[in-house]
Amino acid sequence: MRGPVLFPGSFDPFTLGHADIVRRALELFGEVVIAVGCNEQKSGWMPIEERILSISMLYKDEPRVRVESYSGLTVDFARHQGIGVIVRGVRSTADFEYEMQLADVNRRLSGIETVLLPASPELASLSSSVVRELAHFGHDISPFLP
Ligand code: ADP
Repeated sequence: MRGPVLFPGSFDPFTLGHADIVRRALELFGEVVIAVGCNEQKSGWMPIEERILSISMLYKDEPRVRVESYSGLTVDFARHQGIGVIVRGVRSTADFEYEMQLADVNRRLSGIETVLLPASPELASLSSSVVRELAHFGHDISPFLP
């Protein structure tokens, strides 16, 4: 199966774990659209513009990756972009249950399939919220960012 695929998330901040999913999705599908969700309830630590800019900078020399922002339902954005597959990362069994439900709802709503990639164990603990917490208490978070 060849791309493009949509990798949606709030990415606050975009971590090594996220970059690892993008790298592997590229190997599988050849093309990835990173979609930064900017619904009101996703407003967080870094302003949306900063998130989009920092991810775009990371992939500025990678023509197979495009960075977009969107609001509303992920499947509506995927359809609008002409994309038929969503990629998500799974870190834990709790993640898995949530992602299975989300995948099922998205498939029913739109026929769009979701491919779940298991997070690499050595990167899986680096959730955005853990990194945010470290930053909050003044730690250098650069080792956790791609
Ligand atoms: P969302 O609010 O959509 O879950 P996140 O930015 O938390 O936004 O996650 C976006 C995607 O990245 C999700 O599929 C999530 O499972 C995945 N992800 C988050 N952290 C990691 C990690 N450390 N390793 C692999 N995948 C991750």
